[in-house]
Amino acid sequence: MKEDILHNLTIIQERIKNACVKSGRNTDEVKLLLATKTVSAERIKIALDYGQTLIAENKVQELKEKYEDLIKIPHENHFIGHLQTNKIKDILKYNVSCIQSLDRLDLAEKLHQRLLAENKTIDVLIQVNTSNEESKFGVDPNEAIELIKKVSHYSTLKIKGLMTIGLFSAETERVRACFKIMKNLQQDIIHENIPNVTMTELSMGMSGDLETAIEEGATIVRVGTAVFGARIYPDSYYWDEGKA
Ligand SMILES: *Cc1c(COP(=O)(O)O)cnc(C)c1O
Repeated sequence: MKEDILHNLTIIQERIKNACVKSGRNTDEVKLLLATKTVSAERIKIALDYGQTLIAENKVQELKEKYEDLIKIPHENHFIGHLQTNKIKDILKYNVSCIQSLDRLDLAEKLHQRLLAENKTIDVLIQVNTSNEESKFGVDPNEAIELIKKVSHYSTLKIKGLMTIGLFSAETERVRACFKIMKNLQQDIIHENIPNVTMTELSMGMSGDLETAIEEGATIVRVGTAVFGARIYPDSYYWDEGKA
């Protein structure tokens, strides 16, 4: 089990490196985030002990369950699932440094109110639905700038970039089109020069498509299966925090 995880991590690092070389990028421009949904704290620890530092959950409940077991090992926690407003109070208890899945104004407003009350700030990425699939969360690319302008008024929310889940397809060029939308959107937003907004991070690419994402400018790739093995539930289950 331990050997498998370490072996898989080596392979992922190699894939990231090769994709960087292919696209003329520096390896340190791309961070590896481990998507740890359904993975036990014990197995996550193996990766952290090996030197990984960035992990993310999709559900507040799982974050809570593993929190105590992982707290002693230095690492950073992001959140990548669909966040319900009734979980805001909870999520702020677990040292999440970045919510990558901010996709609507009412969530931003309620997060801001709670953060103000607790005298905290948090990094956020705006989740964009680049695949045009009903089943996926995220703001429509055409509505992203408008949302970002509105969210930028909330002083406790530090917008650092964009996140997307690319189309699931074996056709690389269709997947690439999703990532190109992200890169273009990032450039458009930079040109808007919106106060309180930086666009340094593009979180895109998963186990199956991280090379394409890196070629198109990803700064964070989110990898689960390729490190920890297959999950028993369909991914859509984990994308919605609302389902138990
Ligand atoms: C599960 C998940 C990932 C990782 O997916 P894999 O295909 O297992 O690498 C990345 N991003 C999000 C939002 C996820 O829910």
